[in-house]
Amino acid sequence: MDTRTGLPVVGMVGGGQLARMTHQAAISLGQSLRVLAESPDDSAALVIGDVRIGSHTDLAALREFAKDCDAVTFDHEHVPTEHIAALEGEGVRIYPGSAALLFAQDKGRMRARLAELGAPVPRWRPVNDTADIAAFAAETGWPVIAKATRGGYDGKGVWVLSSPDEAQRLVDTGTPLIVEEKVPLRRELAALVARSPFGQVAAYPVVETVQRDGICVEVLAPAPGLSDERAVAAQQLAIDLAHALGVVGLLAVELFETDTGIVVNELAMRPHNSGHWSIEGARTSQFEQHLRAVLDYPMGSTALTAPAVVMANVLGGASGGMSIDERLHHLFAADPGARVHFYGKQVRPGRKIGHVTVLGDDMTEVRARAARAARWLQEGK
Ligand code: ADP
Repeated sequence: MDTRTGLPVVGMVGGGQLARMTHQAAISLGQSLRVLAESPDDSAALVIGDVRIGSHTDLAALREFAKDCDAVTFDHEHVPTEHIAALEGEGVRIYPGSAALLFAQDKGRMRARLAELGAPVPRWRPVNDTADIAAFAAETGWPVIAKATRGGYDGKGVWVLSSPDEAQRLVDTGTPLIVEEKVPLRRELAALVARSPFGQVAAYPVVETVQRDGICVEVLAPAPGLSDERAVAAQQLAIDLAHALGVVGLLAVELFETDTGIVVNELAMRPHNSGHWSIEGARTSQFEQHLRAVLDYPMGSTALTAPAVVMANVLGGASGGMSIDERLHHLFAADPGARVHFYGKQVRPGRKIGHVTVLGDDMTEVRARAARAARWLQEGK
């Protein structure tokens, strides 16, 4: 507890945009958010009062960071599992716990556990060499999808392999891998739920996530044209997984929709890009929900605030042209309803530097406005 306010101190490991937006929610709840950032220039470190600089792989730094926190949580998955287990052993309330987070850290462990739980997953296999990959491809056909078991994000760590030669080149890099069938997906969906230590869960409306080059570019809430039956099944799947894995905090279940149903692609146990729309588009944002969950407060309403909500990511564009600030002036003049979130990050081509959310009655119109706003901020045209 922060003795100045009588309200909780939450520690978040990682100083990215997720911590930055969690801070916004913490402010409203009167909480003090502390972050462990790599650098004072990290997105969240620029705005938070209580910033500790240190590495998330340094157990001593984590231990010092966790002192006097009511709960510790993460803005990424990269804290070594054994460090989390060590802190748990010392009585730190750290969420999600090591036993759950493991399944968001390692794609091989995640696939194996999901299969064990009977969740629908693509055909997959752990592989050590090109012969293993070729044997798998003999069953499913080329191409196959290879994935680094650890450390991937935004499509980095995912490869489409079309031949044994390509497989060999990847194997030669020494990256630990799994392979999967290339799922004939119609589109991608995400089911976001939060779970508290008490065991209460809250499920957000299922959304469609639109990807380009392995990066999420748009999120449509609710997923257009998704049958009630399939939406409820996806929410129930996410709730069941949250309970079965013992997740505390948010769980984002990334899904592929095929002609016959849904399969699980990935799990994330933290605020997630597929939930940014909830800042304006839901009664309780995912960031507030995550704070409530890790502190064992009752969950907030996940109801939509408008019939159609679209979030579009703003990626860094080519340098030159109108400044970002000037672009913002023009955007605000052109679309006073567009809600802009910048993360305070240096612009690099393809890097997520912010997002825009638009709310309205008609999904087609809302989507066009969000895409136009994001493109304008990105490219200045
Ligand atoms: P990351 O952890 O980098 O986000 P993902 O496992 O989510 O990686 O994969 C990134 C994207 O690659 C997915 O959003 C999807 O578009 C595509 N993809 C991943 N796995 C498959 C698969 N088995 N079949 C078809 N497409 C896939």
